[in-house]
Amino acid sequence: MTRVRFAPAPTGFLHIGGARTYIFNWLFARQQGGKVVLRIDDTDVERSTKEAIKSIISGLLFLELPWDETYYQSGAREFHDKGAERLLVTGAAYRDFTPPRVDPSSTEKQVSPWLANPGMRELSGEESRRRAEAGEPFVLRFRVPRESGRILEFQDMIFGSQSRAIEDIEDFALCRSDGSPTYHLASCVDDVELEISHVIRGQDHLTNTFKHILLFEALDFNPPTFGHLPLLLGPDGSKLSKRKHGPVVSLTTYRDRGFLGHGLVNYLSLLGWSAKDDREIFTLDELLETFSISGIQRGNAVVTFDESDDQNWADPKALWVNGQHLRTIDVEDLAHYIEKHLLAEDMWNPDFVGEGRDRMIATVDMLRTRYVTLRDFIEKGAAYFSDEFAIEEKARKNLDKGDARTLLHELAKRFKSYDEDTFNEDNVEKEVRGLAAERGVKPGLIINASRAALTGQSVGPSAFWIFIALGLEHVIKRLEQA
Ligand code: GLU
Repeated sequence: MTRVRFAPAPTGFLHIGGARTYIFNWLFARQQGGKVVLRIDDTDVERSTKEAIKSIISGLLFLELPWDETYYQSGAREFHDKGAERLLVTGAAYRDFTPPRVDPSSTEKQVSPWLANPGMRELSGEESRRRAEAGEPFVLRFRVPRESGRILEFQDMIFGSQSRAIEDIEDFALCRSDGSPTYHLASCVDDVELEISHVIRGQDHLTNTFKHILLFEALDFNPPTFGHLPLLLGPDGSKLSKRKHGPVVSLTTYRDRGFLGHGLVNYLSLLGWSAKDDREIFTLDELLETFSISGIQRGNAVVTFDESDDQNWADPKALWVNGQHLRTIDVEDLAHYIEKHLLAEDMWNPDFVGEGRDRMIATVDMLRTRYVTLRDFIEKGAAYFSDEFAIEEKARKNLDKGDARTLLHELAKRFKSYDEDTFNEDNVEKEVRGLAAERGVKPGLIINASRAALTGQSVGPSAFWIFIALGLEHVIKRLEQA
């Protein structure tokens, strides 16, 4: 059974690189009919926070790729302790009583050099136990079987054959002097406990894998298959980081700025992976059909964006991909996502319930060809969903032209004899052109002024369509207000 895990440490927001790791794990597991575990690596009590856990979970929920099990490392201490005990008993680990050296020039709290005190490896079991019982603090270390001269090897799913001489691996710590497990111990013990078959994670962990293979062997567990994913770089070629590159690095930014979960999944899947036929737009089902680990490149992927440009706050490709999804997903689903944003902005309109629902769907369907994010519906499309919207400068000029305002008032008066059945695009056009002919003005004057009064904008979908999208009641009100 294929079982994968995604193991974020809840010490901050979820990085889009982490989200991509999750997506690749998910796709791989689902293709194999396997299971996905969300393993929250919260053993670092000082740095782990509830807010970070919440943000990670809500970010992952936004992607709409459900996982099967959730596992908190903080709740698995018993397993970690048992694992440590077992390694000590079998001699795979030893107690290192070397007092931590405090180096005043170091920013790290303590420097505990590996093998600075090789004698510790050779302490007799009896002495080791006696000193521990006497309360002397110690770090538990893995006894790397260095004497074997072995070359450690594994076949990485992405980077191919990897090897390292065992003599280059230090006796890494398994437990700190307060008894708490290190990442290496907790991670491997939990992977055993969770029966993980494939570990797919960032390339920054590749060197850890040699240690982990030794640990898995010492725990009598067949090491999982490993795959390491290349890094994500920013436009400046450095590792993508929030400190350097800002909010564009955080998964929840995309949610808050109106991405569709599967739009983002599509974009992130293209960072380092490509389909054989170079296709770029995928529904989730298509991704499941097409994705393959062998299509992941070894080179780092670059995320481009321009923080100073509102239109390109994210990678232009991300925005384009999301726009393609906006155009093609089921319109009812799209309306549902837009509703969530309307609710969050207090812009939800009771007119959209019951009969008004069809009008909302039609509006969404018309607008989606022009927008790239859900936020666009709220910001650029505010007038279609709410009576509160701004009037752009250019639109105001159209209202100020000639007798435009008086003509709109007259138009409103004429529409009062209409009802929802007679109020259709043909009749609106007839009425507008009729009024223009009567008053000897160009129809464009009334059309442009109407668009400005109804939407606050100087460009947009067909003006006659806008009348119908808004409905008779709103049209009369806005024409009169203008
Ligand atoms: N908590 C580790 C991290 O966030 C997990 C690495 C792993 O997948 O083993 O880097």
